[in-house]
Amino acid sequence: MKTVFPFTAIVGQEEMTDALVIAAIEPRLSGVLIFGDRGTGKSTAVRALAALLPDISAVTGCAYGCDPADTSALCDACREKLTHGKLPISKTKIPVVDLPLGATEDRVVGALNLERALADGTKMFEPGLLARAHRGFLYIDEVNLLEDHIVDLLLDVAASGENLVEREGMSLKHPARFVLIGSGNPEEGELRPQLLDRFGLCVEVRTPTDIAARIEVVRRRDDFDRDPAAFTARFAPAEKKLRKRITDAKARLPHITVADEILTQAAKLCMALGTDGLRGELTLLRAARALAAFEAAHEVTPDHLRRMTAPALRHRLRRDPLDDSLASTRVDRVVAEVFAA
Ligand SMILES: [Zn+2]
Repeated sequence: MKTVFPFTAIVGQEEMTDALVIAAIEPRLSGVLIFGDRGTGKSTAVRALAALLPDISAVTGCAYGCDPADTSALCDACREKLTHGKLPISKTKIPVVDLPLGATEDRVVGALNLERALADGTKMFEPGLLARAHRGFLYIDEVNLLEDHIVDLLLDVAASGENLVEREGMSLKHPARFVLIGSGNPEEGELRPQLLDRFGLCVEVRTPTDIAARIEVVRRRDDFDRDPAAFTARFAPAEKKLRKRITDAKARLPHITVADEILTQAAKLCMALGTDGLRGELTLLRAARALAAFEAAHEVTPDHLRRMTAPALRHRLRRDPLDDSLASTRVDRVVAEVFAA
C-alpha cells in the first residue's frame, strides 16, 4: 500500500487542517468546502487525515463496510446475516473516495449489474461510489465544475446518511454516511448559493507567501518522496498524539455544554452578517462545540465561537450591493463588533 504523507507534517494551512479535524470530530457538520489555488495540498490533507484516524471495525465481505456496532444502520444483506448469528468482523482503513469530474449518476449511486441481468436475468445491484465512501471521506476535486444535479444528490445523501436507489425496477437503500469534502477554485466557475450553503464549513487555502514556510513545504515534500518510511517514522509520535486528541474529542463531544450567552452571541453574529435561515447558526454552534471538545474544554467559550465564525459563515453571506468587500473581510469586521460589545 502507498505511504501517505503524514497529516501533522503539513506546513501552515491551519484553517484547512483545523476544519478537517473539526469535521472528523463532528460528522453532522455536513462537510467542508475548500477554496484555493491548485497545488496547495487539499487532496493530500484529506488522505492524510483519513490515514491518521483509527481503523474501523466493519462487517467482513460487506460491500458497504457496515458498522457491526450500529445494527440500526445495516445494509439488507448484513441485517439478513444477523438473523442467522453473529456478524464476522474485520478491521479496515477509513476509506477516501475520489469523485471524478464527469462521473455519471450510475457510477455515483450504483446501478443494476447489466452483465448479470443479461446473462441469467438476476437483478443484482452494483454499488457505486457512495457505497465505497460509507464511513469515510468523499472527495470532490473542482466541485464547482460538477453538474448541479450530482452535487444536489451528494448533499442529499450526505445529509440523510442513506442512499436510496429507485430505478430499473430496483428499489433498495443502503447506509452512506461520509464526510463530504469539496475543493474548488473560485476563478473556475461559481457554485450556486443554494449549494454553497449546504456545506458546513468553508475554508480558504493559499500558496504560502512567506519564504521560510515555502522552503519548509518543499523540504518536507522532498524528504518524504526520497524516503517515505523514515519521514513517516519521524512524524509517528505527533500522529499518535493527534489521533488520541481526536478520539478523546469524539468521546467528549456529547458532554460539552453551551451557555445561553453563547447562543445569543451566535445569533447576533448571524443577524449582523445577514445569513439566511438558521443553518448557519446551527453549524456555527456545532463547529464551536467540536472545537471545544478538541481543546479538552468542558463548555463552549466565546473564543471557540469567534474562531469558528469565518469557516461556518463566510459562504452564507448575502451579497450586499453597498458592500462588495470580500466575505472574509466582512466576517472579520462583524466578529470584531459583536465580540467588542
Ligand atoms: Zn452491510
